Amino acid sequence: MSGWSNKLVDYLLRGQAVSVRILKAILRSGRIGHAYLFKGPAGSGKTALAKQFAKALLCLNGDSPEGLPSNSGTELGCNECPSCVRVDGDAHPDLIMIEKDGTSIGISAAHSMLKEVLTRPFVSKRKVFIIKDAETLTAEAANALLKLLEEPPAYVNFILTTANESAIPATVISRCQVIPLRAMPAEAVAAYLQEVHNVPEDRSRQIAALSDGSIQKAVWLLSQPDGQKANGEALTDKVMNGSLVELALEYSKADSGERQKLLAALQLEFAEKLSQAAMEYDKRQYGPDNSQAAVLKRNFEALKAIMRARQRLSANTNAFLVFCTLFMDMQRLNSEEI
Ligand SMILES: [Zn+2]
Repeated sequence: MSGWSNKLVDYLLRGQAVSVRILKAILRSGRIGHAYLFKGPAGSGKTALAKQFAKALLCLNGDSPEGLPSNSGTELGCNECPSCVRVDGDAHPDLIMIEKDGTSIGISAAHSMLKEVLTRPFVSKRKVFIIKDAETLTAEAANALLKLLEEPPAYVNFILTTANESAIPATVISRCQVIPLRAMPAEAVAAYLQEVHNVPEDRSRQIAALSDGSIQKAVWLLSQPDGQKANGEALTDKVMNGSLVELALEYSKADSGERQKLLAALQLEFAEKLSQAAMEYDKRQYGPDNSQAAVLKRNFEALKAIMRARQRLSANTNAFLVFCTLFMDMQRLNSEEI
C-alpha cells in the first residue's frame, strides 16, 4: 500500500463508487460488524478501499451518535485528525496489515495476530486488522482466525480481502459481511493512463482492454511495450515452428505470474495483428480479393483462444493442458488454407 500515489487511490475509489456508497451507509448507521470480506478481481482496489474503511473506523472524530464520519468525497474518515493522518502515512499502530509471507499466511502470522488482538488500541478506540489475500491463509491459520471471529474483543475489526472467495473456508466467510468490488471499468483504466501517464487515447484504450480491469497491470503493460512485443513475436514464432508438447511442458513449469505475462504478451501480439488485418480488410472489402477476410477470422480466433487460455489458467486448470490446447489451436489456425 505504501508508495501508492494519491492519484491511483483516487481512481481506484472512483471506480468503486458503489462499494464506497455501501461502506458509507454502514458507517452512517453506526452498526459496525466485526468482520468484512472485500471480494473483487485483482487490481480492483480492494486494499485501497480496505484502508479507507479502516481509516473511518479508527478516526478520532468518529463514534458520535450520528455514526462514524464519512466526508462527501470518495474518501472515508475525516482526513484531518491525527489518526486519519497516520493511516494515510502507513504509520498507525492500531492498523495491522497481515500479508502472505511467500505464498501463504501461515500459523506464525496467526500467532502474532492473536497477540495483537489481546493488547488494547493505542491511538484510536478500535484496532483494525486487514488480512490481504485471505484465500492464502493456511488451514491452521484460518482455524485460529475463526476462533477470533467467533468471539472478538469489542474493540477489534477485521477486513479480509480476496480475489478468490471459493478458496476461503465457508466457516470464515459466514462470519463476515461481504462487500463486492467490480473490475475497474476499461474507461477508468484508460482515463488514468491518459491523465497520469500522458498516454495517447488510442493506445490507452488498447492497453486498458488488455488490463483485465487492473490499473496496476495496465501500468505494467505500459512500462515494457518493447520487451512485451519482442516476447510476443518470439513466442508466436516458437509456437508455429516448435514442438508444442515440449513448449507446453516448459511454460507450464513457470510460476503463475510468468505464465500470465507470457499470455499477455501473446494477446498483445495478436490484438495488433487483428487490428492490422481489420485495416487491410477495410481497404479491400469492395475488391475481388477475399483472402483478407480469412486472415481477419484467423487472428480473431487466435485471440479468442489466447483469452480462453488466460481464463482457464486463472481458474487453476492444469497449466500443461491449457498450453497444449492453446498451441494446438494456434498451429491449426496457422496451417488453415486461405
Ligand atoms: Zn479522522
